[in-house]
Amino acid sequence: MMISKTENEDFGAGEGGLSGALLQRPRRIVIVGGGFGGLACASALGGAKVNVTMVDRRNHNLFQPLLYQVATAILSPASISEPLRRTLGRHNNIHVVMAEVTGIDTVRKAVIAEDGAPIEYDTLVIATGSKDNYFGNDTWREFAPGLKSNRDARLIRERLLTLFERAELAENPEERRACLTSVIIGGGPTGVELAGAIAELGRFLIPRDFKNISIDELRIVLLEAAPGILSGFDKSLSDYAQKTLEKKGVEVRVNTPVEAIEDGGVTAGGERFETCCTIWGAGVKATPVAEWLGLEAGRGGRVPVEGDLSVKGLSDIYIVGDAALALDENGKPFPALAQVAKQQGRYLGKKLRAERHSRSRSDEPFRFKNRGITAVIGRNAAIFEAGRLKLTGRTAWFLWAIVHVLLLVNFEKRFLVSTQWMWTFFTKQRNARLIDERS
Ligand SMILES: Cc1cc2nc3c(=O)[nH]c(=O)nc-3n(C[C@H](O)[C@H](O)[C@H](O)COP(=O)(O)OP(=O)(O)OC[C@H]3O[C@@H](n4cnc5c(N)ncnc54)[C@H](O)[C@@H]3O)c2cc1C
Repeated sequence: MMISKTENEDFGAGEGGLSGALLQRPRRIVIVGGGFGGLACASALGGAKVNVTMVDRRNHNLFQPLLYQVATAILSPASISEPLRRTLGRHNNIHVVMAEVTGIDTVRKAVIAEDGAPIEYDTLVIATGSKDNYFGNDTWREFAPGLKSNRDARLIRERLLTLFERAELAENPEERRACLTSVIIGGGPTGVELAGAIAELGRFLIPRDFKNISIDELRIVLLEAAPGILSGFDKSLSDYAQKTLEKKGVEVRVNTPVEAIEDGGVTAGGERFETCCTIWGAGVKATPVAEWLGLEAGRGGRVPVEGDLSVKGLSDIYIVGDAALALDENGKPFPALAQVAKQQGRYLGKKLRAERHSRSRSDEPFRFKNRGITAVIGRNAAIFEAGRLKLTGRTAWFLWAIVHVLLLVNFEKRFLVSTQWMWTFFTKQRNARLIDERS
């Protein structure tokens, strides 16, 4: 796995006569993380005169915004996942490595991975994103999985579908009630999207396919500690989202902080909710990049970066996406959003490419173009906000769908997802309803 200097001589050839400063120009660029930021950066470096190594613990790029649709059986995991080797393999200068990174040796300039030799770099780009934040209550993870990977989504899907099956057979009314109750923690976009999608899953499946349970028995509770859901949106939009969820039968409990999560139930705001399905969507924190670099983390565990996304004092290391604490012109941190990560990755890839060609460092800082934020509440219902423009209902839902399809990694995924959506829209069927045998 070691990428040695000899392997990179192709791209360093002809530099023999350059000054010492120019000799330090990046030749081996290692990108850790093939998500939104890392993939955009690598793609912008495709075919450039640099050797790029893309390291990810997964073999695929994952479109996280649609994970909730995998969890609720609308899409299958392959529709939102694309092998990194397939996307990047066509570039001769990009080498894909599947490995779990555990640290960074900034003195030796090498990425330390769980398996294999250290991977040396001249320039390092870190794009490892974020992970679920249980705010110090890590034992809750076992009973309330988050939604960050296909594995999480499949686990939630299997749990939800199994509970409908158990409820169909349950004779004990308490067991039946717990099986038909889902508690979602966190009223951000993930929680709202899940709550809306679970309500629709029940509404479309139960009356048609189940004989012993009724849709009236389905209970979905969305718990939020703050006074309102979707706090990142304008109040009028979050109010609309709450009303729409309530119309779909979701109980939205605001000002209700979670106190305990156990097997079989959640205690929040002094009340006990008996449930066999708890899902965590209450927060994320950055992956341990600060720890790897021996730096103090900023808000949300993110590492403060300069305007050009480099780390202060470590100018050969850049961070993009959720792991970076980058500030806009007004000193406000950029939100942890796919569009921010993607734009940062593209900016950095282009910058490194241009620097390689011009052989001088560019000081042009990253600038974010806000394309608006959106959240979907269900069929025909979404919210969209871009500056003063605020949309709700079907128009917002169309915009949400268009934005998400366009953001998908290639034509094949766009085609697969749009066709699946049309099928689901017209038939109200969920195709990916799979429960595996237990052993
Ligand atoms: C359920 C959900 C819904 C979302 N919905 C939206 C939305 O609607 N709109 C929006 O704008 N944003 C949304 N987001 C946020 C968005 O997905 C993130 O902001 C974005 O993914 C951040 O991009 P990134 O490149 O920083 O990290 P990611 O896209 O998370 O990529 C990180 C990559 O690093 C890899 N990695 C992590 N640790 C290691 C390690 N130790 N070793 C090797 N590889 C590692 C991971 O495998 C992954 O491939 C959502 C997020 C979630 C979880």
